[in-house]
Amino acid sequence: MSKTIQAIRGMNDCLPSETHIWQKVESILRRVASNYGFSEIRMPIVESTALFKRSVGEVTDIVEKEMYTFEDRNGDSLSLRPEGTASCVRAGNQHGLLYNQEQRLWYMGPMFRHERPQKGRYRQFHQFGIEAFGFAGADIDAEIIMLSARLWRELGIDDVVTLELNSLGSSEERASYSKALVDYLTLHQAKLDEDSQRRMHTNPLRVLDSKNPEVQAILVDAPKLSDFLGEESKAHFAELCQRLDAVGINYVLNERLVRGLDYYNRTVFEWVTDSLGAQGTICAGGRYDGLVEQLGGKATPGIGFALGIERLVLMVTSLEKLNDIRPQVEVYLAMLGDDVDIQANLLAEQWRDKVPEIRIQCHCGGGNFKKQMKRADKSGAQVAIILGEDEIANQTATIKYLRERKEQQSMALADVPTFLAQLI
Ligand code: ATP
Ligand code: MG
Repeated sequence: MSKTIQAIRGMNDCLPSETHIWQKVESILRRVASNYGFSEIRMPIVESTALFKRSVGEVTDIVEKEMYTFEDRNGDSLSLRPEGTASCVRAGNQHGLLYNQEQRLWYMGPMFRHERPQKGRYRQFHQFGIEAFGFAGADIDAEIIMLSARLWRELGIDDVVTLELNSLGSSEERASYSKALVDYLTLHQAKLDEDSQRRMHTNPLRVLDSKNPEVQAILVDAPKLSDFLGEESKAHFAELCQRLDAVGINYVLNERLVRGLDYYNRTVFEWVTDSLGAQGTICAGGRYDGLVEQLGGKATPGIGFALGIERLVLMVTSLEKLNDIRPQVEVYLAMLGDDVDIQANLLAEQWRDKVPEIRIQCHCGGGNFKKQMKRADKSGAQVAIILGEDEIANQTATIKYLRERKEQQSMALADVPTFLAQLI
């Protein structure tokens, strides 16, 4: 026997036993985005490698070690997208959607990063993202955070997530802070681990992110980012905090929150949880006022966030939220006797016309009553409708309740659509 082929490590199938939860989560994401006036944008999964190098940054973890990059047959360097913002800005520039306009956009789909697979961390994973262009003020920062907070409420996970907030200032403020930080770290270079020593030269702010307790101890006396913010950045951040206070959204100020991507300025935030083990961030975002220009467009402010759908699905499953999702079908249609199945299928078609929401699974493959009832039970249906030769002759259907202690009943065929409508 030949060996069966397996999926690529870190790239998962989503099986029918899980898809209903995915669909429910996705439908909440779509609806809430639309509640705030955001429209969907769909971008390709493959882009020029240069797009991510220029936006995410050459010396970020994503571009340095995580991208799936390959040569196209004609020699171009292409990459599977590791995130959505770069593609979204690329598309906006290409189609003239950004300059001098306001856009509220969302996207959803697979992203690819060559990371070590573990719970909540995969090589193909799915993000839902929000991007708003053309708004410079703190009102939109507050709005997209409100939108995210609504998502957690609708998913039933709002009591296990925390918002962390920081401001990185303008790119100049960030650069002068970065210089001060490097000066400070240079004095303590010998005590830094290898990773931090490397980052100190390539992407100094990332040192703040270090999980190493010794590095964290050195950072206690490091210069503070907030001391480098100018008046405008401070006012922007203060207004955001005020707006969040006004709508009752709690947050924790985290001066060490810097985000791994190069393009952020001013507001950055993360929603974190303790309920997922090591993979604690479920949603992350911030302002990227320089990115549109950096990718060749005319200067346009932007802000957005991305969330990992796998992590949300893990959370709602382990916390047993969204348990009211309807079973696979409402009705199993059993059919017994010569030629009954053709009649039965015809009736099922008519019922679907009359009650479009109803889900009827018709029995296929013949067999006796016992076999058909076993299938009916396995289908998850609430009721079985049984059609035999007698029923067809009398223009009736037999209704058998599969999940309740209720007597079987006979019903005129003409009454079935009304009965079905009550099952939904
Ligand atoms: P992390 O610190 O967990 O690596 P990140 O900073 O790399 O996250 P972002 O690039 O900001 O993450 O992506 C936003 C969200 O996408 C994350 O908060 C997380 O929920 C999800 N995500 C990121 N990488 C993965 C992955 N490899 N597998 C599953 N979800 C992921
Ligand atoms: Mg990461």
